[in-house]
Amino acid sequence: MLIHYGELSTKGRNRKMFQNKIAEHIRYKTKHLEKIKIHAHHDFMHLYWHETAYDELIEIIKIIPGIQRFEPVFPVEKDLQVIGEKALELFAEVNAQPGDSFKVIAKRSDKSFEHDSITIQREIGGIILQAYPELTVDLKKAKHKVVVSIHQDIAYLSLKNYPGMGGLPYGSSGKGLLMLSGGFDSPIAGYQMIKRGMKLEMVHFASPPYTSIQALEKAKRLTAVLAQYATDITFHEIPFVHIQLAIREHVPDNLSMTIMRRMMLRVMDALLKERKARAIVNGESLGQVASQTLQSMQVINEVTSSLILRPLIAVDKNDIIAMAETIGTYDISNEPYEDCCTVFAPKSPWTKPRLHTVKEYEALLPIDQLVKEALENIKTSEIAASYQSESATAFNDLL
Ligand code: ATP
Ligand code: MG
Repeated sequence: MLIHYGELSTKGRNRKMFQNKIAEHIRYKTKHLEKIKIHAHHDFMHLYWHETAYDELIEIIKIIPGIQRFEPVFPVEKDLQVIGEKALELFAEVNAQPGDSFKVIAKRSDKSFEHDSITIQREIGGIILQAYPELTVDLKKAKHKVVVSIHQDIAYLSLKNYPGMGGLPYGSSGKGLLMLSGGFDSPIAGYQMIKRGMKLEMVHFASPPYTSIQALEKAKRLTAVLAQYATDITFHEIPFVHIQLAIREHVPDNLSMTIMRRMMLRVMDALLKERKARAIVNGESLGQVASQTLQSMQVINEVTSSLILRPLIAVDKNDIIAMAETIGTYDISNEPYEDCCTVFAPKSPWTKPRLHTVKEYEALLPIDQLVKEALENIKTSEIAASYQSESATAFNDLL
């Protein structure tokens, strides 16, 4: 398999690190199959293996960030007759229909090879046409492309090219903490950052008994979907009920959302340092709800100078939903179980909260103690892509 990297051409001396991250990720995703040999070159990477079926490997490589495209390639002796026979054998698998067009593309990195590119193309094309007389040759937009590359010791043949996920190798852009609710937005925000090479840990605020075990399991299963594109993901469950009850007691309804968000951010800020992460990621989208107006975000953001990334800030809900369908989070996000924000949601939250009013009410709360208590009671676990919610399934069976 020949793997073409994404944007690594601009990475100069860091290229090796990026290549290693891709190699590590491939090894991790294939460790249950067999030990795959990986040879990294300047612009591409070769994978060698024995047993695993192509289709199985293709499904894995397709969702590894940092890969632009990839193609199964077959080594073959540097002899036109032998290349032609192998090309025929491979061609049988593309399932060409009468009337389909094809072309042969020859590339020579060994310039001393006895035949030039035109000759190779003509010879191999002729062999294929003899076996499939109902095909046509189209040099501009052929449906099937047979690529022959002649190297120093060997030639390679390839017929199929697959698009990769794009982006940057997982973990090559440092670590962030994703604020993961059970909704549609935050998992997509997480996917975007994973694709951009950021290693993520999940942070989910939960308020049992006001929120259900299913709401928690929902966040964990969303994490499992994201883990398909990453490696195992660390999941932090933050107990939020004491904070929410304190807010309910001391803060007027229309300000409670703002203060709740500020409390979340304070906890995030402390956790960021503890986990040695560099950015908070959330699923906010401008104007989507009351807490996501510019005025609200400004007042909420005021509690921290940490870097907050909002990959969905300019993305419409429809487009977010479409992405959820594509990456596989839609059905889970669509489940009805309410998270802590919904359970404690005020009837009419202020879209333009005023900072000094917010601070007046916050003075009534034992902020440091509440944050400290939440941090002390975090439950942390590792979630693999294979995570199945046994407890939730058992629970649902009882209902
Ligand atoms: P989502 O935005 O994920 O669809 P939502 O619409 O229910 O969920 P919002 O009220 O839009 O949530 O919250 C904005 C952002 O705040 C979310 O995208 C998420 O990053 C974060 N957030 C909300 N609730 C929680 C929670 N219970 N735990 C962790 N983060 C949360
Ligand atoms: Mg939202």
